Amino acid sequence: MAKKKGEICIMCGNVDSKSVPVITVLDGLNLCTDCIRFIDQARDEQLKVAGPAKETTPAETKAIPKPAEIKAFLDQYVIGQDEAKKYMSVAVYNHYKRIARKEAADDGVDIEKSNIVMVGPTGTGKTLLAKTIARLLDVPFTIVDATVLTEAGYVGEDIESLLTRLLQACDYDVEKAERGIVFIDEIDKIARKGDNPSITRDVSGEGVQQGLLKLLEGSVVLVPPQGGRKHPDQKLIPVDTKDILFICGGAFDGIERKIASRLNTHIVGYGHDESKKKKQRENLMRYVLPQDLKSFGLIPEIIGRLPVLTSLEPLDRDALRRILVEPKNAIIRQYKKLFEIDGINLEFSEDALDTIVDKAIEYKLGARGLRSIVETVMVDAMYDAPSSNLKELHIDKPYVEEKLEKANFEKMKLSD
Ligand code: ADP
Repeated sequence: MAKKKGEICIMCGNVDSKSVPVITVLDGLNLCTDCIRFIDQARDEQLKVAGPAKETTPAETKAIPKPAEIKAFLDQYVIGQDEAKKYMSVAVYNHYKRIARKEAADDGVDIEKSNIVMVGPTGTGKTLLAKTIARLLDVPFTIVDATVLTEAGYVGEDIESLLTRLLQACDYDVEKAERGIVFIDEIDKIARKGDNPSITRDVSGEGVQQGLLKLLEGSVVLVPPQGGRKHPDQKLIPVDTKDILFICGGAFDGIERKIASRLNTHIVGYGHDESKKKKQRENLMRYVLPQDLKSFGLIPEIIGRLPVLTSLEPLDRDALRRILVEPKNAIIRQYKKLFEIDGINLEFSEDALDTIVDKAIEYKLGARGLRSIVETVMVDAMYDAPSSNLKELHIDKPYVEEKLEKANFEKMKLSD
């Protein structure tokens, strides 16, 4: 800031003096210190009235990532499941485009919501996919279990309470919650039991589906702030669900039989192609259609509100092996990091990793079991290493086998 003698404040006309100096704040813009103070105070007042800058959602600020970018991000965390990733990427992209577009123009074309249902064996990455999407989009995300929901009048949680968790995930910022993602796990568990002999209402089935329908199709629902069951003198929070993305997941155990019977009818019609039949049986899930969900016991209205249907493949040996080391936060990377903090370089031999995968397959533990196997293998080292001078730790096949054998031995001793 330059200062020349005899300059005049352009706001009040004060001449530069020792008691009230005039300062050149910009080229040709001279202000006295009184006026500068006045401007500062006025700005502070303004900020107090307007409040702090409003937090905006990603749809408003960042450009929405393109489907290929969403998939590339998912690839960093989830192994395989290419088809599910593709469907998810497109559905999520369309969902956010739909929200952004609605704000910009109202031309009468109403793009419908693209809620998703994922069908696939447990532990194949359904929850992981949903979680990873939420991480990318930076929106409130919650996982709820469909089995805890009940229809009004029965013991359990009211259906609306699944939005309580979403509200809690964003500190009760309703506007943010209204653009969040809810992952409803075990959706297959609320299927209607077709052969239910009871004439009373089906507590865990159709009634809950009817309740859920209201949320999926988009309406204003009253949410109990603390979850659980509503009671008369509780203050309820209205939440509009029309822009909330619902992703449902379920193992749908036995749905293969429904798919097979549908496909067989089809195949018989076109002759007996044995190799085709075999291939279909190998991975029937990928042929899942909405009508199979209906045969399984979901009501047609619910199926209609879940327009994106995709399946996840069972994880084979190769996929399990990759899950151990490849994802950005792969189990092996996590353990290496843990040891690195203590200044120890942890290495696993290839056959050690193979043995871990073999055990997961042998014990039928799937991807979820990989972590507990590695934990069992590493527990002694994690106990001893920090108080030793160890700089290198190499885990090989005999080490893995010894630790697992020991753990089994301990368990057997406990059950004696
Ligand atoms: P579910 O299909 O039952 O929802 P999850 O997504 O909860 O299964 O998977 C359980 C755990 O197994 C995950 O936290 C992750 O560590 C691992 N996992 C499962 N599938 C995959 C996969 N495709 N890629 C990477 N990790 C996976």
